[in-house]
Amino acid sequence: MKVLVLNAGSSSQKSCLYDLSSEVLPEVPPHPLWEAEIDWTYQQGQAELKVKTAAGTSKKSFPSQSRRADTLEMLKTLWSGETQVIEHPQEIDIVGHRVVHGGDEYQQSTLVTPKLKEAIARLSTFAPIHNPANLQGIEAIEDILGNVPQVAVFDTAFHSQLPPAAYTYPIPYELLQKGIRRYGFHGISHEYCAHRAAKILDCNLKELRLITCHLGNGCSLAAIRNGHSINTTMGFTPLEGLMMGSRSGSIDPGILLHLLRNCNYTVDELDHLLNRDSGLLGISGVSNDLRQITAAIDRGNPQAQLALDIYIHRLRSCIASMLPSIGGLDAIIFTAGMGENSALIRSAACEGFGFLGWKIDRHKNESAPLDADIATSDSTVRILVIHTQEDWAIAQACWQQQIKN
Ligand code: ADP
Repeated sequence: MKVLVLNAGSSSQKSCLYDLSSEVLPEVPPHPLWEAEIDWTYQQGQAELKVKTAAGTSKKSFPSQSRRADTLEMLKTLWSGETQVIEHPQEIDIVGHRVVHGGDEYQQSTLVTPKLKEAIARLSTFAPIHNPANLQGIEAIEDILGNVPQVAVFDTAFHSQLPPAAYTYPIPYELLQKGIRRYGFHGISHEYCAHRAAKILDCNLKELRLITCHLGNGCSLAAIRNGHSINTTMGFTPLEGLMMGSRSGSIDPGILLHLLRNCNYTVDELDHLLNRDSGLLGISGVSNDLRQITAAIDRGNPQAQLALDIYIHRLRSCIASMLPSIGGLDAIIFTAGMGENSALIRSAACEGFGFLGWKIDRHKNESAPLDADIATSDSTVRILVIHTQEDWAIAQACWQQQIKN
C-alpha cells in the first residue's frame, strides 16, 4: 500500500511516501521511499525543492507560481526524473494530510469530503496561515489523483477530551459559544509519543500517567491520562503556554492593552512582536535557535543566559501545572528539536523536580539517546527521549482508514 503524507507549514511543504504491507503495520517506523520539502523562505519569489530517496538527494530552485502549482512540481518528482520511485501517480493508494485546526467538531482522523473541506475553510479564521495551506494541499492532490481517498489528521484532535474547566477561558461565556476556547496543538506529536512511550515501557497506555514535552520551534506540553490529553499548554492559538523560539508564550494580556492604548501598536505589529520577535530570540537578541543561545552563553552573553533561564523557569512551572490533573506521574517524555537534542534542557527541567525523586542518568542523558529511558533505576518517574514522527503517525492513520474500508 503506497501512502503519501503531506505536512504543510507556514512557509514550507513537507511530504513523504511510505510503502506499507496491507497485512500488518511495522512496530518500528520504516524509512519513507521518498521525502521532499519545498521551502519558500529561501529567496523572494523562489521555491527551493529538496528530494531524498534511497538513490540519493536532489536540490533545485524554481520561480514560485502558487502553493498549489509548486506542490504539483514537488509531487512530479515521485514519478519522473532522477528521484523517481513509482511509475505512475495512480499507484498512490491513499493520501494523509496534517491539518492544524479541526475545531471542536473533528475529534479523530477523518476522510476528506466536500463537507470536511468546507469545515477546514471555515476554521481558517482560527488558523489563518495553516488551514488554507492544508486545503491547498488537498486540492493539489485532487488535481493529480482525482478521487484517491484523502485523510485529514488534526493537530487539535488529541486534545478533544480536555474537560470544560481546562478548555474554557474565564472571560464572558458568550465568547465560548463563539468558539473562543482552548484547543491545544501538536496533538499528532503528543499522541505518537504517548503510544511510543507505552511500547518502550511495555505498559498499557490506558494505565499510564504521562507528560509529553514537545520542545521544537513551537513548544507545548500535554498531560495524558487514560490515553487522552486532559491538559495542555497551548490554547486558542499556538501562542499560549511555554516560551518558544520566537513566540512569547503566555504573558499578561494587560501588556497588550497597554501597547495598544499607549504605544500606538497596530494589530499586525503586535502579532509580529508576539509571534516573531519574542521568546528566546526576543530576550537574547541572538537567535531563536538554542544552539546559538548556548554558544552565546559560552561567550559570556548575559541576555542569552537570561533567555535560557526564563525558558527553564517557565518549562518547570508548566510541567508542575500539569501534575495535579493527572494525579501523579509515571513518565515524562522529551521530544522535537530541543527535547530530543538538548541534554541541558532535559536535565535542567528535571532538576526542578529532584525533591520528588526524578533522577536523570547523566551518562545516558548525554549520549544522544533516542527512543530511550534516561532515568536512573531508582528515579520515581521514567524519563524518556522519543523522536517524534508525525508523518509516520499520519501514515498509520491512513493505513487504518484503508483497512477499515
Ligand atoms: P519545528 O517546530 O520547526 O518542527 P524542530 O522540532 O525541528 O522545530 O526544532 C527546532 C529547534 O530545535 C531549533 O530551533 C533548535 O533550537 C533546536 N535544536 C535542534 N537541534 C539541536 C541540538 N543539537 N541542540 C540543541 N537544540 C537543538
